[in-house]
Amino acid sequence: MNDPVTPVCPKCGLSDQVEKVSVLATSQSNKTVEIPVQLTRKIEPVDQSTLNTENPAINSIPDAELRKKLTPPKQPESKSPINCAGGLFMLLSTVALTGVVAGYLAGIQRGITQWQQIFYGSIAFSVFFIFMTIRYTRSFFKDLHAFQDKSEKEMAAWQKSMEKWDRLYYCQRDDCVFDPDQNVAVAPADLKTYLKEP
Ligand SMILES: [Zn+2]
Repeated sequence: MNDPVTPVCPKCGLSDQVEKVSVLATSQSNKTVEIPVQLTRKIEPVDQSTLNTENPAINSIPDAELRKKLTPPKQPESKSPINCAGGLFMLLSTVALTGVVAGYLAGIQRGITQWQQIFYGSIAFSVFFIFMTIRYTRSFFKDLHAFQDKSEKEMAAWQKSMEKWDRLYYCQRDDCVFDPDQNVAVAPADLKTYLKEP
């Protein structure tokens, strides 16, 4: 307890077993392990075999599990909507337009009928593919805007729950997480739900 302003647990009214949640969740120190060792040694009878076999399990499993429960809320992933169709039609219209240019340059000037067919065919394809590109690009931007709105809301909610999480303390005695500002205590298992609440 090097923090001079360690708050008091609302359940037991003491601060001697209280540690900041952000410290517990991120540190890999043995500090949290030391307390159960002392407790179990006091309770356990002087039996060396049980001390050696059971203690490591008692110390390591709850500590890792507790840390898992106390982890900060996950940052929302920023997956942008993928629009393959728009990109594909864009590529096809480029190819078709290249056909138009190639047809014009290679054939039309010389009056070759085969090239003329390619030329008109390419124009038809170009118009079709450009139309499809516009259609898909527009729906892409519509999706993108919806996505941005959604992710902005998600990010704001995440930041809020991060601030909430940063205020939390954990009392080892009562196995509870509490917010000294709100005077609310919750079980570590309910922490994720608590953080999502507005
Ligand atoms: Zn307590």
